Amino acid sequence: METKKDSKLPVRTCRVCRCTDPEPCRGGCAWVDDKPDLCTTCYLMIDALAEWYMNAHWPSFAQLRHELETVIATMALLEDPTRRSHVRP
Ligand SMILES: [Zn+2]
Ligand SMILES: [Zn+2]
Repeated sequence: METKKDSKLPVRTCRVCRCTDPEPCRGGCAWVDDKPDLCTTCYLMIDALAEWYMNAHWPSFAQLRHELETVIATMALLEDPTRRSHVRP
């Protein structure tokens, strides 16, 4: 008799943020029903971004990213300094 929950199976991982069941997003998340490798944190963000893209006059992902990096840099300064930085080299 085979068990479906075999330890050889890869850990279910979000394709966007790489969160897993043992290590979920900081705010908590679940799996999106029809997308086995996408968590709700990322799904909600994609949904919001899609709405932004449709509604903004001339949406620029480059400029959006620049704005995001500014906000994230400010938030990082307020974060617990003992927490590992997510900033990539
Ligand atoms: Zn995710
Ligand atoms: Zn997640």
